[in-house]
Amino acid sequence: MSDSVVHVALFPSAGIGHLNPFLRFAALLVQRHCQVTLITPLPTVSLAESELISRFCSAFPQVNQIQFHLLPVDDATVNSTDPFWLRFEAIRRSAHLLSPLLASLSPPLSAVVSDISLFSSLVPITDSLCLATYILTPSSSKMFSFFSYFPNLLASRKSIPPLLCVPNSLFENIFKEDSPKITKLNGVLLNTFEVAEAQTLEALNGVKVVKGLPPVFSLGPFVPCEFEGRDQLGAILTKWLDDQPAGSVVYVGFGSRTALTRNQIREIGDGLMKSGHKFFWVVKDKLVDRDDEEGLDEVLGHELMESMKKQGLVVKTFVDQAAILGHKAVGGFVSHCGWNSVMEAAYHGVPILAWPLHGDQMINAEVVETIGLGMWVRSWGWVGETVVKGAQIEEAIKEMMGNESLRLKAAELKEAGRKAIGIGGSSEVTLNRLIDEWKKKN
Ligand code: UDP
Ligand code: UDP
Repeated sequence: MSDSVVHVALFPSAGIGHLNPFLRFAALLVQRHCQVTLITPLPTVSLAESELISRFCSAFPQVNQIQFHLLPVDDATVNSTDPFWLRFEAIRRSAHLLSPLLASLSPPLSAVVSDISLFSSLVPITDSLCLATYILTPSSSKMFSFFSYFPNLLASRKSIPPLLCVPNSLFENIFKEDSPKITKLNGVLLNTFEVAEAQTLEALNGVKVVKGLPPVFSLGPFVPCEFEGRDQLGAILTKWLDDQPAGSVVYVGFGSRTALTRNQIREIGDGLMKSGHKFFWVVKDKLVDRDDEEGLDEVLGHELMESMKKQGLVVKTFVDQAAILGHKAVGGFVSHCGWNSVMEAAYHGVPILAWPLHGDQMINAEVVETIGLGMWVRSWGWVGETVVKGAQIEEAIKEMMGNESLRLKAAELKEAGRKAIGIGGSSEVTLNRLIDEWKKKN
């Protein structure tokens, strides 16, 4: 093999939020003539994941896909009922099977990049094969900083994800077990950029968070790719958006795995109607898309559904979110602050009304608020703590849509994000440095 051929194996975990950044990163590597092997744990939890993997593999036939069939896991041995987290654990418990596969790849691997939730089960294997191991985290650098500092965290802060406060829960165990092992990694890759998270990145790279932390590479904002485009709804939605004035539409979407109670969903409908703004709303009634069978009439109630027709478009399918955020009609985003969503909003310069609900989302919302990309009504709390009323939602939407300084700040961040990934920008320079590092490992 030539010295300059870089071959990287990518190992994402369950859920679109974990898959998307890996596929966008894979596209970046292919553009730079790296060879990519994509390990896809099967079966996927959601339909959206399996469809996305198929589209990716058709768009990039040069990528070598390893279909990784997992060992069955007795769910009773995992302290969680969340299907995505059960799958995290199943992948962790099967990871040792990858050893012969990784060893047999040709040309030999320059590096393995794993999801943050899988790395501790992978490191013993990559160590024995003398392979450099990196992680790509699907969240903010602030969340990563929290993760790496977790063993030292004694004070209870309000934004600590509640699931980490449940003793012996799956996540508490993973955090406790994995966080001290980060020092074994060769590097940490992040979908973020300097202007968005300057202070945290500086602290992480300046040994101010945890001693022995590997270098952190900020490579974002990752650019949504063409292969992600889904044609469903394309024509109707595009026509509807095309007919709206620039910056007038509120887009509401809570990511790929957040279902709300029917009560809360109806309050959102009420708030959107009262706000007087046009809206495009993606309703999710079930955690996993395969289970999401009931129609909108049933979820929203016939009356609300009918009354909304003049003011908005409501769907209950997986949509091409990045394309929606990139449409000029969209002027605001009601978001749960999954980090992919935050970076997509920054990339397109769309202000956010942050409504973090669980997991890392409050930590991400803190970033959104600090950099001025959005506003956050902290009193709404974690999911299930309270039902946020239509009138509160109405008021917050009006505030976000009418806030000129948010709009300007979001536009500035869009420019800064594009500069970061453009030639000579901080993320582009960092990516080249990373690839050079991999070339040297050949
Ligand atoms: N997404 C999408 N269409 C949908 C829902 C989600 O394209 O209907 C994408 C979204 O653009 C993002 C990812 O799925 O890239 C969700 O990741 P995020 O980190 O925002 O949240 P999560 O789903 O992990 O909670
Ligand atoms: N996370 C982590 N280490 C792990 C698993 C998760 O640091 O081993 C972080 C990561 O930042 C992730 C966040 O916890 O984005 C939330 O967990 P999860 O990914 O399950 O939530 P989701 O994004 O799927 O809603």
